[in-house]
Amino acid sequence: MSFPLVVGVTPGSPADLAGVVPGDEVRSINSIVPRDVLEWRALTDEAQLELEVSRGGMELTVEIDKREGELLGIDVHSSVFDRVRTCDNHCAFCFIYQLPKGLRTSLYLKDDDYRLSFLYGNFTTLTRFTELDFERVLTEGLSPLNVSIHTTNPELRSSMLRNKRGATSLRWLRLLLDHGVKVNGQLVICPGVNDGVVLDDTLAGVLDEYPELASIAVVPLGISQFNPEPTMRHHTVAEAQAVVDCVDKWQHIFSLSLGHRLVFAADEYYLLAGRPFPSPDTYGDFEMYEDGIGMARSFESEFFGRRQPLTVVSVDSLPPSTLHPQRDTGPSAIPQLTRRCTPRAAHRPARRAVRSV
Ligand code: SF4
Repeated sequence: MSFPLVVGVTPGSPADLAGVVPGDEVRSINSIVPRDVLEWRALTDEAQLELEVSRGGMELTVEIDKREGELLGIDVHSSVFDRVRTCDNHCAFCFIYQLPKGLRTSLYLKDDDYRLSFLYGNFTTLTRFTELDFERVLTEGLSPLNVSIHTTNPELRSSMLRNKRGATSLRWLRLLLDHGVKVNGQLVICPGVNDGVVLDDTLAGVLDEYPELASIAVVPLGISQFNPEPTMRHHTVAEAQAVVDCVDKWQHIFSLSLGHRLVFAADEYYLLAGRPFPSPDTYGDFEMYEDGIGMARSFESEFFGRRQPLTVVSVDSLPPSTLHPQRDTGPSAIPQLTRRCTPRAAHRPARRAVRSV
């Protein structure tokens, strides 16, 4: 467990006026140790705060009076203070195993943390998800979440994740959907593993078991020159065409049965298959843009002036109830945290940059 380290203080902010300075380590807020920026934000919504602070070996108490919901004006070193939940899967298609040696350490961190899914759109397999996590998602309204599904066949999922819990962890997906959590799914397609008939069965499984999913991104695995897995390879043209055809077919089925397309193929598939990109209307508001879905059409539309350039959605724009459904006073957003979808498959290393909270 590490504590939030103050790396910046906004001049004139409540924290500044109370004497908080960069380098302070915040040990507790009103006697509670925050685990992450989500908890920090909930705690610091209060008007009266008592921060236990460690400064150069000295323990201090900093009292702050401010308006309820007013931001403290503190930048901290990380979004997660109690350590990022790391991934215990060993997927053959994992891009992190395909990185060259000698890069900065944070790039090798495999996260599987639902909090980063909520904050940044990272994908989680839910293999490390627990009852306590589930309660927290519901009580704090941590929605939407992004879940890596890959296949609805339990044995195959377990095999793809190389983790026996992969066979059962989608039970959490069912529970999340049952409780109204918005979930976007992702299928990373590995040729010869979960494409073809398996992809068809997976989308049938989605219709059968998880029809409340908000979207499903079908994306190809990434392969680097450092790929250590001989069975992992690029798609052939015929395989890419088969994926496009399968997605087309299921878009039609989902539209008829659910009223929306639900599943989308990554732009790469259309390029590789030599097929035209779907029309811009297909993509709605281009919500899967950062997953490589609709980027090409969006670029084309922007180039020809048919739409405004897309902007990244800031967590600032989240409604108060998204973070703290029990509150409706003051700005409940976390400023300067940017919400995005994880590009291509898997999971990015947890961000270690400054978090302004
Ligand atoms: S792809 Fe994702 S789930 Fe699989 S090993 Fe890598 S980080 Fe873990």
